[in-house]
Amino acid sequence: MTRALLELAGVSRSFGGVRAVNALSFAVREAEIVGLIGPNGSGKTTVFNLISGVFLPNGGALTFAGSSLVGRKPHEICSLGIGRTFQIVQPFNSLTVLENVRVGAFRTIGDPARATDEAQAVLTLVGLSHKRDALPPSLTIADRKRLELARALATRPRLLLLDEVMAGLRPAETLEMIELARRIHASGVTLLVIEHVMRAVMSLSHRIVVLHHGEKIAEGTPQEVSRDPEVIRAYLGEEYRPA
Ligand code: ADP
Ligand code: MG
Repeated sequence: MTRALLELAGVSRSFGGVRAVNALSFAVREAEIVGLIGPNGSGKTTVFNLISGVFLPNGGALTFAGSSLVGRKPHEICSLGIGRTFQIVQPFNSLTVLENVRVGAFRTIGDPARATDEAQAVLTLVGLSHKRDALPPSLTIADRKRLELARALATRPRLLLLDEVMAGLRPAETLEMIELARRIHASGVTLLVIEHVMRAVMSLSHRIVVLHHGEKIAEGTPQEVSRDPEVIRAYLGEEYRPA
């Protein structure tokens, strides 16, 4: 078994009286795809904000490749090799698609010409090179999600955190996004994926962690969690039936 690339141990974070994340422990191994699921407000995005240094935990340990993440700034965490997408996409609307991706590439590649080459390569990977000169507001939702992915990939992450990249997509676009996530994984990137589209997260993930009120209520293979009575009660209900 490969050792943990990312490890959370007893991590908590409150906002006022709300315990958004409570004593959460789980690990992601190198080359895994782990899904993070749970109802709205169960703390999923907060977990990403804790990993990526947007919020400090109130307690607990977060380590990546053996180094503590606690107290590091988001740009340092990015330099360590953790990339992320945002649930609400945040492109620079006055920069072209290519320029947006170059911003990410420039972080890890100081040389302007090589940063442009890298941005081009990432746009090709996500299927957006034909839109390189477009401005983000003119893109479809699916293309905005691809751009968000490209921006994160351009920082050359070892671990990529995807926050609902399939939300709002049509079924055919969702299938394309699953295919793209698989391609990114095959290129050597470990994935931690927040997703509400059950078909997608169940087919992509090797393992799934289920949150409810900031606590882990289940962890296991997609088959295991989708049959877990507590997961069905708290989240899946009748809407998801495993094949
Ligand atoms: P999810 O992504 O699972 O829908 P979130 O992590 O966004 O859930 O939110 C978990 C809880 O933490 C919610 O009750 C939310 O209102 C609260 N929360 C998240 N971020 C903040 C914040 N910056 N300030 C105050 N409360 C927050
Ligand atoms: Mg969220």
